[in-house]
Amino acid sequence: MEAAASPLRALPSVEKLTQALGETGLPRPVVVSLVRRELAGFRERKEVPSWPEILSHLEEAVQNTRLSRIQPVINATGILLHTNLGRAPLNAAVADAVREIASHYNNLEFDLVQGERGGRAAYLEENLARLCGAEAATVVNNNAAALVLILQHFCQETRSEVIVSRGELIQIGGGFRIPDILETGGAHLREVGTTNKTSLDDYARAIRPETALIMKVHRSNFWMEGFVESPSTEELAALSGERNIPLVEDLGSGALIRTVSLPGLPHEPTPAEVLAQGVSLVCFSGDKLLGGPQAGIIAGEKLLVSALKREPIFRALRCDKLVLTALQATIDCYLAGEPSELPALSMLKVPLEELRRRAVSLCDTLLDLPLTVEIGTGKAEVGGGTLPQARIPSVTLDLLPNEMTLEELSQRLRRGSPPVVGYIGNSRVKLDLRTVFPYQDELLAAAIRACLSSAT
Ligand SMILES: *Cc1c(COP(=O)(O)O)cnc(C)c1O
Repeated sequence: MEAAASPLRALPSVEKLTQALGETGLPRPVVVSLVRRELAGFRERKEVPSWPEILSHLEEAVQNTRLSRIQPVINATGILLHTNLGRAPLNAAVADAVREIASHYNNLEFDLVQGERGGRAAYLEENLARLCGAEAATVVNNNAAALVLILQHFCQETRSEVIVSRGELIQIGGGFRIPDILETGGAHLREVGTTNKTSLDDYARAIRPETALIMKVHRSNFWMEGFVESPSTEELAALSGERNIPLVEDLGSGALIRTVSLPGLPHEPTPAEVLAQGVSLVCFSGDKLLGGPQAGIIAGEKLLVSALKREPIFRALRCDKLVLTALQATIDCYLAGEPSELPALSMLKVPLEELRRRAVSLCDTLLDLPLTVEIGTGKAEVGGGTLPQARIPSVTLDLLPNEMTLEELSQRLRRGSPPVVGYIGNSRVKLDLRTVFPYQDELLAAAIRACLSSAT
């Protein structure tokens, strides 16, 4: 026992190692617990590595921890609303508005005219309604929360069936499934039709006293072609009116602009368009095509919106002042007629010549490095489960390193500062410039340079 334990005493102390790591950019307690964990690992494996080995092991652990903090990343994937990379970036004016509110007291729930308690985000709600052509609107944490709130409100014990077409029982992203959300909202799913065909009559025949709601769900991340049929929103709205069953449409991405005005994009139904067709309520995300912060927006009939806001669960789903401020400033961009100021939308519009010009000048700065750099073509995507069939022509920097694998270069780019996320395609590491802000070009060049010069 003694004999086996004694070599492990040669492991350096926590204090000594923490000191040797120097300035890590992480709080000291985080570093100390990291060192403890690594030392415990050595003890468990009965390993006593050399001092430089221990130190380099710890430095990697420190860097991994640093990389796990939320931080700015250069998105060179060409996917504009990348859910893993935070979806829509906010524009500078929106970010400034958030900073102002974040560090000051504010009138979140205070009526400055009357000097008393006021409604939360009244300006925002009123103007969201205006942009949606709706009587009223409100905001919750995300579109999933909007669905839960709507379902909880409409589904009661004796009336809890929600009619949804089998062609719309979708899964979005990591484990978000419409049937599961329905269950969470206390609804009983009443599936109608088939995967590719659902008729108005399928809906009509499913309505019975237990029916709480008809729900239409935007297919978002896939599209169907061929032998496909589903009733129009107008037809469903007429049925909903006749039978007095509310019709709710989950629009998913919620474009407030005419998407066909952007190169490469098909038409995406807007909240105003769908509400004009007679839907009772629509819901959609704030951080998809709207280009704002994470939020779920609900718009439609005033009586319904007010009733939703009175639900006890609304309190648990409502947004904080920072999100409301970001959304308010985003909405102001639309009201001022300047939605193209929002990065998610402006990046879609950048002409190919402009991207090519940037690619050429980036290439020029990388000539001395041990790699081949070429200008390639890319197909950017909207992402975030939005407009899956849209492919936006783009320009890439195609990297082929002389002395390391593509995987290794990708990994070094991800571990850089700032981290750069691209993709491997055509036996190259491809960096799509459509999602890289022009002011990041220099940072991008420096990041590539750093990956190729640090020779470990
Ligand atoms: C993205 C999406 C959601 C989920 O929205 P979050 O804001 O991410 O919660 C729900 N429904 C549809 C149709 C979607 O596309």
